[in-house]
Amino acid sequence: MDDIVIRGGQVVDGSGAPGRVADVVIRDGRVAAIEPGHVGPARRVFDARGRVVSPGFVDVKTHSDWTLPLNPRAESKVRQGVTTEVIGHCGFSVAPVLPGRVELLRDYLAPSAPWLPFRETTFAEYMDAFPATSVNTVMLVGHNTLRLMAMGMANRPPTADEMTLMRRMLEEALAAGALGLSSGLFTAPGCFAGAEEMVSLAHVLRRYGASYATHVRDEARRVFEAVREAIAIAETCGVHVEIVHLKLSGTDGWGGAARLLAEIEAARQRGVPVDCDQYPYTTASNPLRNLLPTWVQEGGVDAMLARLGRPDVRDRAREDIAADGLGSWGRIPSWDAVRVAVSPHRPECEGRTLGDIARSRSFDGVDAVCDFLIADRGATRVLIASMAEEDVRELLRSPMVLVGSDGYAVAPYGVTGQGKPHPRCYGTFPRVLGQYVRELRLLTLPQAIHKMTGGPAAAIGLVARGLLRAGYRADVTVFDPETVAERATFDEPHQYPVGIVTVIVNGVPVVDGGEHTGALPGQVLRRRSGGVG
Ligand SMILES: [Zn+2]
Repeated sequence: MDDIVIRGGQVVDGSGAPGRVADVVIRDGRVAAIEPGHVGPARRVFDARGRVVSPGFVDVKTHSDWTLPLNPRAESKVRQGVTTEVIGHCGFSVAPVLPGRVELLRDYLAPSAPWLPFRETTFAEYMDAFPATSVNTVMLVGHNTLRLMAMGMANRPPTADEMTLMRRMLEEALAAGALGLSSGLFTAPGCFAGAEEMVSLAHVLRRYGASYATHVRDEARRVFEAVREAIAIAETCGVHVEIVHLKLSGTDGWGGAARLLAEIEAARQRGVPVDCDQYPYTTASNPLRNLLPTWVQEGGVDAMLARLGRPDVRDRAREDIAADGLGSWGRIPSWDAVRVAVSPHRPECEGRTLGDIARSRSFDGVDAVCDFLIADRGATRVLIASMAEEDVRELLRSPMVLVGSDGYAVAPYGVTGQGKPHPRCYGTFPRVLGQYVRELRLLTLPQAIHKMTGGPAAAIGLVARGLLRAGYRADVTVFDPETVAERATFDEPHQYPVGIVTVIVNGVPVVDGGEHTGALPGQVLRRRSGGVG
């Protein structure tokens, strides 16, 4: 007897090939057959006529390690059709945590994971103890976290002992099955690392056949240099590199997407293993403190807070921002482009822009930033409208740019329902399918699905996932191509999308008739010599 038959849908298999009408048969957690007119008894039959049946979406760029332990149902992800998430990006992993370093990491990640409990752990223990969730997870270990463990927020190169410690922690994580190393070179303490440090770590990656995922050093005026730095790591160290949330931030760089893509394409033509992903929005999200020049964060949170109260420090920050723009976001049209997403101590300001707040208090944006950071002890999170829609579309049209949300799993209820997070947490995949495929016809449905399934699965080496093929793991998403759409907005982000009908993870329905079943069939997928599975 078959476990599940999904009948009569348009099967788009994730390879980029056009769809065809067929039944998808699932047995023992795997796709048993894909054929028209399948006969035989099944425990459960889904009628998919008029709907698209695709592989479950692989969200190749996420931060759900911050929220899955708080709500393992991964509500805002599975309701988009996501069945696998890559977590630990941008240098920020919640493990390993060395003895005596728990507070340090908690303070550091407070703007990102304000509700998450932290504890001392090795990466292997972290993977073993990760809770059962509704999605499969693939884990990266963060360079910023490793550096924080080895040498705090020091702005200098590591000593030989510190470098050895970072390499050893990386080796432990890779031996446990981490996909690879993530970096966040745009912010402290990752930005204090030079090329030599990253090359040393990349050599460890190479020994394990592991991957490097980088939030590059600058996404604004120096984005070309930063992308070249990432490509050079891939080329000189022989490791796969994923350039995450590719963008041109800041008004100075707007319109440069085609040139940036040409550089990456040229590297790929040379045989360099480089991939990239994007989220389909013109607005970014980050800790507020990262909008200030990086020297502000030297020495850690307490040192930063002491600095931010001083008028001379604010003047110096003001000058740096006037010259260079906001950290690695570059120049923005005005402070109205920065909106408070989460403020633990001033929740009444969530949703308001810094321009609006500054005007109502008769001071400028820099004072608003500094006062928020002091009130929230550095834990404020913001949204930054810093990109051009034409660049977002140029990237989305490119077959080599994968779709990754950069969001974390949240829900409209419970602890993760606080604040006003980026709507990408709820809407990334339905937005691409509704807005950009159906409404704007920027790309075809099979192309878009490939960028969400087969493309990312190949980039990270997932074994038997990412395509609909007999023998593959049964991660499946069924949606209505006529209605699929995001509903989350910046004002009301906590809204599930529409049109995602059924989502199956490892052969178990997690979304059924648009509702969560409560099932937690996700697995922690580990990198081994043959791939990630
Ligand atoms: Zn990032």
